[in-house]
Amino acid sequence: MISTNLLKIQEQIQLAARNSGRSAAEIKLVAVSKKFPHTAILSAYKAGQQLFGENYIQELQQKRKELPENIRFHFIGHLQTNKAKIAAESCSMIETVDRVKLATALNKHLEKLDKNLDILVQVNIGQDSNKSGVAPDRAAELLEDLQPLSRLRIKGLMTIPPYEASPEKTRPHFKNLRVLADKLSAIGFFAGIENIELSMGMSGDFPIAIEEGATIVRVGTAIFGNRPV
Ligand SMILES: *Cc1c(COP(=O)(O)O)cnc(C)c1O
Repeated sequence: MISTNLLKIQEQIQLAARNSGRSAAEIKLVAVSKKFPHTAILSAYKAGQQLFGENYIQELQQKRKELPENIRFHFIGHLQTNKAKIAAESCSMIETVDRVKLATALNKHLEKLDKNLDILVQVNIGQDSNKSGVAPDRAAELLEDLQPLSRLRIKGLMTIPPYEASPEKTRPHFKNLRVLADKLSAIGFFAGIENIELSMGMSGDFPIAIEEGATIVRVGTAIFGNRPV
């Protein structure tokens, strides 16, 4: 049951926050609905969930047509530059900006739309060759290049750590992302951003991510069940 799962996850978020001396209010839950029909999103929405994550632009476009307008989406998949326009129009945040070319395309479309957009920079924190994201030691350079793009509000960092059989093993990756964010913040890259966002943690490991400072957790399976293939 989607509503029961959501309640359970909210409880786990509160517990993890309490364990680490944080307030659950500073942690946002993105319900990752990729590959599930819009009806699943609607069930979660009726249970009070308003923020969702999608990985595929075409799928997102289709679903949005069927859904209430106040549902917000974070884009969390690999974004092709030629899909930047649709992403800019239909998402409240793009979590996966990892190259200048994509950021420039987003900024250009935002100029035309006369709006600003929240983004995160995706970091390949575990240097995993199968994952997108900027390498940790190139993140400062990328952030530097993004500074002139005035329509993008760079709110923080996002990562998908390498797969580990035990969730506890992902902890060092989460810690590394937080340390990197602190370093970039000290340089001044997040000037004007009140709360730097760290999007990390999925169904298997989100409590650990929260203990390490996550402000956004992206949870799919634990809400919607196993994804249809
Ligand atoms: C699919 C996906 C998730 C959700 O993963 P679950 O293990 O189902 O919770 C989170 N983040 C990203 C980037 C994803 O692609």
